[in-house]
Amino acid sequence: MQRFRLSPVFAIVMATACLAQAPQSGQQTEPPVSQNVTARPTPPPEVKSFDAAAIDKNVDPCVDFYQYACGNWLKENPVPNDQVRWVRSFSLVQQRNQYLLWKDLDAAASNPKDALQRQYGDFYASCMDTATIDKLGFDPIRPSWQKIDAMTNIHQLAGLMADLENHGMSDGFFEFGVTQDEKDSSKQIAEVDQGGISLPDRDYYLVDNPHFAEIRAEYVEHMKKMFALAGETPEQAAKDADAVMKIETAMAKSFLSRTELRDPEKVYHIKTVVDFQNMTPNFDFKKYFGSIGIRHFNTLNVATPQFFEAWNGMLASEPLDAWKSYLRWQTLHGQASHLSKPFFDEDFAFFHQTLAGQKEPMPRWRQCTATTDRALGEAVGQDWVKENFPPSAKESMDKLIANLEKSLGQDIQGLPWMSEETQKQAEQKLAVIRQKIGYPEKWRDYSSVKVVRDRFVRNVQQAAIYERNYNFNKLGRPVNEKEWGMTPPTVNAYYDPSFNDINVPAGILQPPFFDPDVDPAVNYGGIGVVIGHEMTHGFDDQGAQFDAKGNLREWWTPADKTAFKERTECVADEYSGFEAAPAHDNAPTVDLNGHLTLGENTADNGGLRIAYMALHEALKDEGKSIDEKIDGYTSAQRYFIGFAQVWCQNTRDALARQAALVDPHSPGKWRVNGSVQNFDEFGKAFHCTKGQPMYPDKSCRVW
Ligand SMILES: [Zn+2]
Repeated sequence: MQRFRLSPVFAIVMATACLAQAPQSGQQTEPPVSQNVTARPTPPPEVKSFDAAAIDKNVDPCVDFYQYACGNWLKENPVPNDQVRWVRSFSLVQQRNQYLLWKDLDAAASNPKDALQRQYGDFYASCMDTATIDKLGFDPIRPSWQKIDAMTNIHQLAGLMADLENHGMSDGFFEFGVTQDEKDSSKQIAEVDQGGISLPDRDYYLVDNPHFAEIRAEYVEHMKKMFALAGETPEQAAKDADAVMKIETAMAKSFLSRTELRDPEKVYHIKTVVDFQNMTPNFDFKKYFGSIGIRHFNTLNVATPQFFEAWNGMLASEPLDAWKSYLRWQTLHGQASHLSKPFFDEDFAFFHQTLAGQKEPMPRWRQCTATTDRALGEAVGQDWVKENFPPSAKESMDKLIANLEKSLGQDIQGLPWMSEETQKQAEQKLAVIRQKIGYPEKWRDYSSVKVVRDRFVRNVQQAAIYERNYNFNKLGRPVNEKEWGMTPPTVNAYYDPSFNDINVPAGILQPPFFDPDVDPAVNYGGIGVVIGHEMTHGFDDQGAQFDAKGNLREWWTPADKTAFKERTECVADEYSGFEAAPAHDNAPTVDLNGHLTLGENTADNGGLRIAYMALHEALKDEGKSIDEKIDGYTSAQRYFIGFAQVWCQNTRDALARQAALVDPHSPGKWRVNGSVQNFDEFGKAFHCTKGQPMYPDKSCRVW
């Protein structure tokens, strides 16, 4: 799915365009699987919470606070060759969590203690078994290609698509799944959405400049090489690649932009299946829905009708052979990183090197750990939390969250521009935000996933089928409020507007986000701001459209809505002026898209403010003052430095360009500087002079 249903605090990887429908895979995209099998993991270093050595004292914090708080760290921590971005917090904690998870997987692969360990141990072992993977070569894809070749007319397409998906093909022409009804969050309904392009965003197909033209040419070359590796003649490979490019470009033209997709009203069109079928007579949706193992339904949400209308037209105008080319590509590309070395290398060279700037693949153990976590996360996670998540961490979080909620409540009450009527509604919504901390109360049952030790692709497909059936099974059933959209070792957190809940996995409750051994200022600047960020998502330009029950419903007075919009537009304009990537060679300067990133920026700004208010409360409880110094910095200063040091990051140029188009989060520099320059308490804490860049005369404030 291209839509941002959940609001995570950080996008970990952005190598492909799709955020999958299924919640378990919703937060991560496909990483490369390296052939580098010999590298053995070594324990990663401990991550420091507050790092005075990272500070560049030659920089004036009032001029560029990010550079001040992170400057020395940035100089000493270039992006490793097997990464596209290196973040002081997320990357380092992820590295540590993955290592600990690997220890469980490696032990389970050689000496499983129970059925659960046998299952995930075998899955991991099948991924590490590159000898078998290399021997099988193209074989895992061949049966799909034979079915595609057997198609004799376009009316067989619906049956074929259903069959391929029933066998674990995860990419197709569109997205389909079960989701909460945005206007009645107690109901789970079917939904279709735009999909089926391989480049990260529609702009890659459509923008007319030399930079994108070059990428498009390289994409066609990449497809040719992949088709040739699969055994096609050069002529056929070229024909296939051109056909795919033509179809994907036409599909991209009918896509809503990512900014448009953020508007829940724009993607809400409940239709009967009969009406939807009448809209798309060239694809037998009735047959498709009847063949994919989902129970019968009469209505669905057609998120992007204009896409399906355009696609329906294309089905009539493009020849059958072109659709065969397209399907061959989807089945091959979707599994390329799980195949033998030649496929893996070629897939890596284009999708990771060219598009994101990654210089070499990650070590195989790391990729197999991530792949197993994605496939069987709540099985692997059970052992992981036992070993790595002390109950005391959860208790500390409960207290911190209570303080944050109180602060956000006070913040709402103190807003001069909001009427009492709307304030009451906002407070009601805040009062019922649920929190889920650490890991699920009830673990998922993966016993139906049949794992075979020497068939990696088959295992990945089995996991995809499980995920899909799990999702389909929700149709018409009551929602499960206890469900998680991230696995326990994940270094992230999210807010879900339909559930109106915040979710903080065990994986992020570690230094530098949270450290039981440091002063509260640093923890409030770390995990406090992260959780405050998630709470604020309930009230950002998107979240504010959903009520306390998670329903898309107007609960604002018109005057308050106008005042709110004025304030969010101030933030959108401000961030649109920030540079995301500088010009070089044939690549132009890219600025941030202030509307794509509006929700995240609003959440960053709100999180920084309410966690600061909550810190005051926490210090008051302990009888301490915010001006008290530790190691030469006041608590106020330590709070802001702790916050900034979460976001220290080096990023490859190619990824920065891709992120500016697809990532709703701003780069670290602007997450820090944008937030502090909108918060006067920062200028006061660092004794800045009004009018300096980080303490401007005029600033934006929503919450
Ligand atoms: Zn967020």
